[in-house]
Amino acid sequence: MSEIYRNFIAGEWATSNNAIDNINPSDISDVIGQYAQASAAQLQETIEAAKQAQKEWQATSLEKRQAVLNKIGEEMMARSAELGELLAREEGKPRAEGVGEVYRAGQFFTYYAAEVLRQIGENADSVRDGVEVDIRREPMGLVGVISPWNFPTATASWKIAPALAYGNAVIWKPANLTPASAWALTEIISRQDIPKRLFSLVMGSGAEIGQNLIEHPEINAISFTGSYQVGKTIARASAENFTKFQLELGSKNALLVMDDADLDIAIPAAAGGAFGGTGQKCTASSRLIVHESIHDQFVERMLEATKAFKVGHALTEGTQLGPVASEAQLNANLDYMKLAAEEGCEIAYGGERLNLEHDGFYMSPALLLGGNNQMRVNREEMFAPATCVIKVGSYEEGLATVNDTDYGLTAGIITQSLAKATHFRRHAETGCVMVNLPTAGTDYHVPFGGRKNSSYGSREQGKYAEEFYTQVKTSYIFSGSPF
Ligand code: NAP
Ligand code: MG
Repeated sequence: MSEIYRNFIAGEWATSNNAIDNINPSDISDVIGQYAQASAAQLQETIEAAKQAQKEWQATSLEKRQAVLNKIGEEMMARSAELGELLAREEGKPRAEGVGEVYRAGQFFTYYAAEVLRQIGENADSVRDGVEVDIRREPMGLVGVISPWNFPTATASWKIAPALAYGNAVIWKPANLTPASAWALTEIISRQDIPKRLFSLVMGSGAEIGQNLIEHPEINAISFTGSYQVGKTIARASAENFTKFQLELGSKNALLVMDDADLDIAIPAAAGGAFGGTGQKCTASSRLIVHESIHDQFVERMLEATKAFKVGHALTEGTQLGPVASEAQLNANLDYMKLAAEEGCEIAYGGERLNLEHDGFYMSPALLLGGNNQMRVNREEMFAPATCVIKVGSYEEGLATVNDTDYGLTAGIITQSLAKATHFRRHAETGCVMVNLPTAGTDYHVPFGGRKNSSYGSREQGKYAEEFYTQVKTSYIFSGSPF
């Protein structure tokens, strides 16, 4: 029997009555380990314990807090090969993407280590004589972090690092599909010189322990990345308790390829944006909106690029596209492929289950043609290695099609026209815009987030994260006369 990895409750590794198997989606005979499922009583215990620890952490010197964040980040970067392999093994993205993700996650910690020293407030003269005003930020207190499986280390790190940097305690509920990455990061944090009960790991299902966490009246703020449906549940629960919350949700990102596009830029951007991370990115290009005068040429080369992807085991050298993350995800993807055909799309390539050397959740990348923007496959987030080409007759029609969606995370344009690129940048109804770049792929030192049903609340990442993890206090000081 494999080792049972425990939760981190009130500063101790705690056993549970229940555990789940963590299965490698590249090879379902490979069980990575068993992961304990936290109970409601453990959640209660760790929340109680975190309150005092948070007060101690808030009072800890800036340089000490900075040093802790640096140490976490540096260890993650130094161990990115090992931890990236573990991530790839449990999630299914190719090893290089897993290693890159862990390295990037380390950079979130070192970035926020530096931000610890940049917590500088404001001051003002009062309208009353002899009175000064001091405006500063204080931590929120207890922060609940709920993260998804698709970027299990990066999404969690871009929440945990600022939460700690700005003086909060963290209670982390990772996705149950990817507990190994969460356990590994927790193990690093557990060795740091921080108040013992400052950081908690509560693995378990969203419907059980996740729901308990979001309904808990003593959690002061919840940062969530995941689906629109669960986001709504969190919004309702948070409203009930007046808990501050921030949601990064799904999307239906479009890449607009104009008649003057350089296809040497357009094709890698479209293919990488659509199929990178097996299409399981919130920033994936799932609609390719292409000008009619370049459409046939684009499709011919996109078809070649799609066929060229090497699908395989995440840890096999040369794999470009791993399996999808779970059987449920694979079945949902295959249902969408059926729906695409029923709705009148031509499936020019892919969209089929693949039986490879290892028994895993493999699917060939799918290129759908002849789509229109009213089809369900172009309105609902599939989270699949599948993308649909929609032909348009003009830039105006293209822009309108890009914006005709309930979501609004990223949008891209491929054009050589500065005027069109500028117009697009200003009129795309999304939180992020990419010019001559894939819709996926963002930096860590600048804000990230969307509009419409893709996001709610203040921005994540960069300096902007301060808004969520802190609250403003305004103090009035009358010092009297010195004479
Ligand atoms: P999900 O089903 O919403 O799950 C996300 C997290 O929420 C998981 O940890 C899940 O736990 C938990 N959860 C589920 N039900 C809950 C509940 N009632 N209360 C509290 N927590 C609950 O999403 P997913 O399938 O893991 O991830 C895919 C989605 O994430 C896609 O829609 C994608 O677009 C989105 N995403 C968005 C971004 C972004 O930045 N905008 C980035 C990455 C992913 P369990 O799964 O363990 O049950
Ligand atoms: Mg797994």
